[in-house]
Formats: sequence, structure tokens, C-alpha cells
Amino acid sequence: MKSSALEPTRIRFEPPPSPWGVGASVYPEPRRAPTWAPALPLSSRAAGQRTLSELSSVLTDLGTADVILALFTKFFHHDLFFDYQESDSTKIREILGRELLQERVRLPHRFGRSLYDRFNDTYIDTRTDHLMSEDVQRLLQGSPIGVYQLGRLVSGPLGIIESEDSRFVPPILELPLWHCSDTGCNALHDVTFVAPNVPVVEAFSRIGKALHDRLGPAAEWSEVLNSQLHKETPRQYVDLPPLIADYIIGEELTVLLERALLGDRGVFLRGVLALPPRRKREADGPATRVRSSRHWASVRLGGTLSSI
Ligand SMILES: [Zn+2]
Repeated sequence: MKSSALEPTRIRFEPPPSPWGVGASVYPEPRRAPTWAPALPLSSRAAGQRTLSELSSVLTDLGTADVILALFTKFFHHDLFFDYQESDSTKIREILGRELLQERVRLPHRFGRSLYDRFNDTYIDTRTDHLMSEDVQRLLQGSPIGVYQLGRLVSGPLGIIESEDSRFVPPILELPLWHCSDTGCNALHDVTFVAPNVPVVEAFSRIGKALHDRLGPAAEWSEVLNSQLHKETPRQYVDLPPLIADYIIGEELTVLLERALLGDRGVFLRGVLALPPRRKREADGPATRVRSSRHWASVRLGGTLSSI
């Protein structure tokens, strides 16, 4: 592993949002990947093109877009597959934001009770530690986009927006959704979402297996890359998202957003709320109107997070 590659002197290291958009997301079926290739050039400086050539025999029946997205999701084996300096992180962010808003990529909303209640209303007789893909799709149908943050990028009902602060709240596919019948157990138990059988998941699986068979275990890039996102996190605020999301709810969250609109960061927050595909006038006007607009009912958490 070439750690020196992570310490460029001229360009700050900003990894594309690979692990988060696709590695821990749920794909509604049936779906094929959008074309990410223009944003992810397979240059000779990175290992992607070489890997693609070496594995072509096990990927022949899969579409290029699915294979490129699977490579992006995997991101590395021994070397990084893509050259981050040549990749277009703005374009990647646009594609991911659009896919989220169109519900072509889903990030389950881990906070609050909405999925907990829905799960327990629906699966009361079949509580389990995993949920098959078809049931995951049903569970998430119509639910808000999950609020997560990697570095400065925040996902949520607004798509992908940028916070002024860096945090590490990665997406998860193990959600705390039920309590068991043991009266002595107060734990909230996790349910693992099983990935669907779609081409990009198949490509991801085949690439991982083939590389492991040929080259052995993958290098420990995850820790190194995650540490880049952790580095800027002020420790005193690291638990703020779960605190706000799980303990400040309903009208209180609305009031918090109003305070944020009236505070020092108000102009910045209105700018975030007015970004396309939303209209500028939707973030205009008195804070009381913006905060209580029906349109914004589901975006309070994401918007509030972007300003804290
Ligand atoms: Zn229990």
C-alpha cells in the first residue's frame, strides 16, 4: 500500500463518495447502473483498467456501466482502481444525488421510529436478524432518504448537500428495528438488509471473488480512507447527528430549524435549501414560513444538519 499517495502537497485529499453511495445502499429492482464512466476515467495511473482487462472473462455477460459502478463501489483491492485526481467528484456527487432523489438508489433512514414502526407493524410474526431484498423494498417504499454524513457531504431528503463541518456517520445496512420478547433484554436488535440480485451487485461479487482468488486478501485501505474523513471531525460534535435525529423530534425540530434560519448560518442554510432541483423561492421569506412549509416537513433534519 502506497501511503504516500494520500499525502499530496498541492491537492487536498477528498475521496469520491464511493463507499457511501453504493457500498451501503439498496437498489430497487429491476435496475441497471447509470453511466458513471465519464466521471470515473480508467486511466493508466490507477489499477482499474488493468483489473478490468484481467477479469474480463468473468464479467462478459454484464453491462459496462454495472461493472464500472461495481469497481467504484469496491474502490480498491491492492491498489486504488480510480485516480482521484482525474475523477470528477462534482459529477459523481450529481449522479448520486439524482439517483437518491429518483429512488433508484436507497439509503434507509436509520433515525427516528418510522422504519421501526413500519417493520413491527408488518413483520410482527417473522422477526428476524435479516430481511430479504423484496421485503426491504417494501419496507423502504415511500420512506425518506436516509440522513448520513461522510466528510462534508450529507445525504438526506435534499439529496446530497454539503455541510460546513466534517463528520463521519456512514450509511448502514443493519438497522435497529425490533425488541425481543425477553423481558430482561432492553437491547434494540439489528436487522441486516440482504442485497438484491441485480447486475451491479453480481458484478461486485464476482470482482471481489476473482481478485481474492488471484491476489489474496485486499489491502487495508478502508481504515486509511476512513481516517481521512475522521481527521477533520471535531470530537466534541461527533454525536450531534444522532442526538438531534433521535432526541429532538416533531415541533421541536421545526423550531430548531427556524432558529438555524435566523442564526449566523441562516444565509448559508437558505442557500442549501434553494439548490436545484428545489426552487429559490421555496427558501425565501420569513423563517416561520420556510420552517413550517409542508414541502419542508421531511427535510428539516437534513437541512438542520447542514447548518450545524
Ligand atoms: Zn433482546
